Amino acid sequence: MTTFHDMGISEPIQRAIKDMGFEEASPIQEKAIPIALTGKDIIGQAQTGTGKTAAFSIPILEKLDKSKKNVQAIAIAPTRELAIQVSEEINRLAKYMGINSLPIYGGQSIDRQIKALKKVPHIITGTPGRLLDHIKRKTLRLDSIKMVVLDEADEMLDMGFLEDIERILKETPEEKQTLLFSATMPKPIQNLAERFMNAPELVKIKAKEVTAPSVKQVYYEVKERDKFEVLCRLLDVDNPELAVIFGRTKRRVDELSDALNKRGYLADGLHGDLNQRQRDVVMNKFREGNIDILVATDVAARGIDVSGVTHVYNFDIPQDPESYVHRIGRTGRAGKTGQAITFATPREIGQIHSIEKASKGKIQRKSIPTVAEAMESIQRAAVEKMIQLVEEDQDTRFKQAASELLDQYDSTALVSIALKLLSKDQRDGLVQLTSETPRYSKKPKEKSMRNYKGNREFVGKGASGKRKKTSRSYR
Ligand code: AMP
Repeated sequence: MTTFHDMGISEPIQRAIKDMGFEEASPIQEKAIPIALTGKDIIGQAQTGTGKTAAFSIPILEKLDKSKKNVQAIAIAPTRELAIQVSEEINRLAKYMGINSLPIYGGQSIDRQIKALKKVPHIITGTPGRLLDHIKRKTLRLDSIKMVVLDEADEMLDMGFLEDIERILKETPEEKQTLLFSATMPKPIQNLAERFMNAPELVKIKAKEVTAPSVKQVYYEVKERDKFEVLCRLLDVDNPELAVIFGRTKRRVDELSDALNKRGYLADGLHGDLNQRQRDVVMNKFREGNIDILVATDVAARGIDVSGVTHVYNFDIPQDPESYVHRIGRTGRAGKTGQAITFATPREIGQIHSIEKASKGKIQRKSIPTVAEAMESIQRAAVEKMIQLVEEDQDTRFKQAASELLDQYDSTALVSIALKLLSKDQRDGLVQLTSETPRYSKKPKEKSMRNYKGNREFVGKGASGKRKKTSRSYR
């Protein structure tokens, strides 16, 4: 485990990383950052989800000269969405440095961008076309550039940006450091590297052969903002006896376990900030069944050994195949079958294929259960619960009232209402996903969806009462 402290990252960046909740460097960061800090050019083979953005952003920030007011680094990205994301990540990392990054992309008012460029940001992230536009207008000068990043270079080439990129690179000084990141390394990328880079070092995560245990593996393509709703829906459908949910950062773990509790699930979080005693308390709750969901970071989960975990959910995709195999190894132990469920955002699907390749396993794609399917599982669980209660019931206090009701009302209507009451907690949790909400719908969105913004915040709908522990035994 390499920490950012071990890598000699300066104090303000370390502080920002701590706020972001990263516990240790991801494999690509561990490899790329030390090389980039020496000033060498790098070709990094890494996909979205591996932590590649911080892998190039941290060296940029370390090498920046704050005392000079000029543009010192540009990161070129294929899409406006990515340009914004990269800029946001840089700004989060630079929180204690008084440095700013500005995203420049097509579709936004050029006048507004010109105004922002006049303030001379230290770092600019942008899409090729719009960057070139500003260069031509002379509203952006690249003669003080010390570092250039080409992010998702293969995508940019696929989108026909090669010429634009070359024209931008020609505007930058000869003497500079170039970092190129790409998920794949086709010939045109190698050509680009040969022409514009200086003895680049290839950095990739060794796809160490790892074999996935015999666990049923599935993945769902889920938009970031839908993840929490999908998780709740799956928890209702899967009804896991004991589940471990993996989140990327400490903050994520805290937010997720809070949000789950607000929805009535019995969950607690485990991460590196907890001391041994706090960890023991959480683990004991999990072992004794006082909670049935453990939310954890990779680091925190490393030391745990619990038998009987039936489901592992990768709420955030793991950063490399090894960590995937490690995570899903938490389930399916002692001859029992386990299930591993991974969420991948549309941009992260490539990671799923890398994991499949390295782990020599098949991860089956599944579609998100509909509200109707989730409802059906909830009904099924209520019926099972009812049967068990009827079989176990010794209590005669309600018998008189029951037979009076049966004399007066239809028996089907009565049982149906009893079932409805039994499933109340779960039914109340069902919320439409943003992707399912018809565009013409005037219905206000649920609070929980509105407030759940990617990494930032989960706000549960508010539990209508804790889910009863007994519900577990009716599966
Ligand atoms: P990327 O591959 O750059 O798109 O990063 C994917 C996500 O991982 C982003 O939300 C990052 O903020 C997050 N991330 C990057 N590095 C780490 C790390 N060392 N530990 C945990 N999360 C990270």
